[in-house]
Amino acid sequence: MNRFEYFAPVSVREAAEVLQAHPGARVLAGGTDLLVQMKERARTPDTLVDVRRIPGVDELRFDRKTGLTIGAAVTMRQVELMPAARLHYAGLAEGARVVGSFQIRNLATIVGNICNAAPSADAAPGLIVHGAKVKIAGPNGRRTMLVENFMTGPGRTTLATGEFVVGIQLAVPPPRTGSAYVRHTPRGAMDIAMVGVGAAVTLAPRTHACLDVRIVLGAVAPTPLRAKAAERMLRGQRLTGELIDRAAEAAAEEARPISDVRGSAEFRREMVRVLTGRMVSAAFGNAQGQSGNKRRAA
Ligand SMILES: Cc1cc2nc3c(=O)[nH]c(=O)nc-3n(C[C@H](O)[C@H](O)[C@H](O)COP(=O)(O)OP(=O)(O)OC[C@H]3O[C@@H](n4cnc5c(N)ncnc54)[C@H](O)[C@@H]3O)c2cc1C
Repeated sequence: MNRFEYFAPVSVREAAEVLQAHPGARVLAGGTDLLVQMKERARTPDTLVDVRRIPGVDELRFDRKTGLTIGAAVTMRQVELMPAARLHYAGLAEGARVVGSFQIRNLATIVGNICNAAPSADAAPGLIVHGAKVKIAGPNGRRTMLVENFMTGPGRTTLATGEFVVGIQLAVPPPRTGSAYVRHTPRGAMDIAMVGVGAAVTLAPRTHACLDVRIVLGAVAPTPLRAKAAERMLRGQRLTGELIDRAAEAAAEEARPISDVRGSAEFRREMVRVLTGRMVSAAFGNAQGQSGNKRRAA
């Protein structure tokens, strides 16, 4: 590992100043990606800026008006265990639950997962299906953008020099919304997704037709990918098994997989079809259960 300077700023402004003054710096959160990359010399930052001491970044809170707030220091394990996250954002909680091991999940942050910007990032589909926004701070103030547009390629994000992520915000899901996430890995544990699929479904009152749907495919494109043609087939329709099967086929067509050590492009595409069908059905089922659950929510 290369030598580096270490900073632990205690305010957003101080963090932005240090990051701007050291263009070769990287933000450090749990270190489960970054320290491994540094040991392998895939990254050699001259400065690490640990953002976990900034007041407020440990915030994990569900509010019936503002939704779910996830600070930059919040770990996978915290989200996995949070009852309100499991109830209202099941796709995200499940994405957090499948990451690495207990040890990894106790360090790994949700924010670090999207900032590392791996196409296989397990938290990303669950965030995107819920329309999550990333809160960014920097030398020129603050800005917010959709997580969907934040990752621009493997290891790349829209962050400019001096900027970092202070947290993520998810709105309260509309009534009768359910979500789900699943991934396929060649090994049973401690492996990254060969394919991951997240879905969220919102049902219309009374008719229970599909009012809105989002489908996000992981590990089959340079960034997590919305399967928009499949979504269009489902939106406004009553969800039948046959229609879901056709949408799953459309999602498989939209995927842009590569062949690598984890599997061939052909196999990945087939997994997209299978898992999309399952996740739309699971999200549909969760949405049907949500009208009663809302009253019991934390
Ligand atoms: C054994 C093992 C198993 C794993 N299994 C999985 C898995 O199953 N699924 C999966 O998705 N991932 C997995 N990972 C990868 C990793 O755990 C996750 O991506 C994790 O969420 C990264 O979060 P972190 O807090 O550790 O980030 P760090 O390693 O601290 O940072 C990751 C990157 O994000 C940047 N960054 C972090 N926080 C911020 C911020 N606030 N603002 C700007 N930039 C920031 C860093 O500069 C760095 O480039 C695994 C890793 C290991 C070592």
